[in-house]
Amino acid sequence: MATFDEWLDAYDIVYRTLPASSDLQCPNCSNRTLRLVFTGPPGSGYGYASFWCDSCMEGIHLSRAPIPEGAAARSLDASAEERSRGVPNYRLVT
Ligand SMILES: [Zn+2]
Repeated sequence: MATFDEWLDAYDIVYRTLPASSDLQCPNCSNRTLRLVFTGPPGSGYGYASFWCDSCMEGIHLSRAPIPEGAAARSLDASAEERSRGVPNYRLVT
């Protein structure tokens, strides 16, 4: 199982590829199915990041992450249902 640090390294790489999508391998299962979703107050440039793998359903959660220019971010004002759309209930690595 990948450690939190390994997930953080993967996050860093995927983050730097934004707003393009990355085909980086998952640090846990090696599938290229990593997903990254930001949620934050509109226009703040900061929010929390949900980063997970659609194959093994593991990932990490980061708060106060800078949201890069051009990256899609969900509004904190949106309903819980809207905010979590497409974000599975994955296992958090801590
Ligand atoms: Zn995986």
